[in-house]
Amino acid sequence: MKEQLPQGGQMVSIIEYSAEKKARNSYPHRIISPPMPSRCCQARMNRIGQVQVEDDSRFYYKRCSHCGFTVREFMSAIDIERLLGMDVSDWGDRTEAWLDRIQHEVETERAA
Ligand SMILES: [Zn+2]
Repeated sequence: MKEQLPQGGQMVSIIEYSAEKKARNSYPHRIISPPMPSRCCQARMNRIGQVQVEDDSRFYYKRCSHCGFTVREFMSAIDIERLLGMDVSDWGDRTEAWLDRIQHEVETERAA
């Protein structure tokens, strides 16, 4: 088990990660996402809906227009939008780090 979050509370996510179900965007009620991000996600993540505020956290949902992979993007996290503005040639080494980070976020979601 992972350590408890300092604030203790669990934020409710509308994302359901499923390998069996077809990816679906029923925001703001439900988003069905593949369990794993793919390389396509890096360039195709689009913000869905409004920024949500829960306690001291602000986040919004980002969904890949290609495979439907969805994560919550916390405003305090690394600014992917800015990273995506960089030259593609800068992305070589960053792709793995990006996928690692997203994967970690998914694991956190699934543990909730
Ligand atoms: Zn994708």
